[in-house]
Amino acid sequence: MDSVNNNEKELWIGDEKFIPFLSEEEIQKRNAELGKEISNEYRSKLPIFIGVLNGSFIFMSDLMKNININCEIDFFKLSSYGDEKISSGRVRLVKELNADIRDRHIIIVEDIVDTGLSIKYIEELIMEHKPASMKVVTLLLKPDSLKYDVKIDYIGFKIPNKFVIGYGLDYAQKYRNLRSIYVLSE
Ligand code: 5GP
Repeated sequence: MDSVNNNEKELWIGDEKFIPFLSEEEIQKRNAELGKEISNEYRSKLPIFIGVLNGSFIFMSDLMKNININCEIDFFKLSSYGDEKISSGRVRLVKELNADIRDRHIIIVEDIVDTGLSIKYIEELIMEHKPASMKVVTLLLKPDSLKYDVKIDYIGFKIPNKFVIGYGLDYAQKYRNLRSIYVLSE
């Protein structure tokens, strides 16, 4: 059986080679910085962090451990990419929120912002519920790939327009459990 998560220098998926891109240490260091910054800005508030499933589950979990103020959490589930490596340009809501977000301070948690379509769609959904405020944190942003006018308030890493996997990000639903992030080598 193929083994993953063994910190090898490269990872082959079929005939595609992925190489290490962001290490566990780099990601955790940045999570600590983001957690501190967000905690400081929301000190007098009780924010609700809303994770966008599936990709954000690991980042959200690690980020939350660095939030040192009271907060609540909830999740949206979107479906967009299917098993493809490029965006289908369509987004569908698969799981609605449980929390009542009216007059609440919302922080959307994304794993990666690529074209910006998903975040635009989520922002519009959230705004319909009339929150007190809304901000977005993403671990990764591909600035060269953005097609929609979205404001991202907290960014872990700006990355080139390349396909990445691991740390929540999948390749055809697999490899989300990698502890670090790999990039497709061209
Ligand atoms: P957007 O709607 O901004 O175009 O894309 C956001 C979603 O596309 C992310 O939540 C993620 O599921 C997926 N995505 C975008 N780029 C990548 C990538 O490089 N790797 C993986 N695994 N997913 C990506």
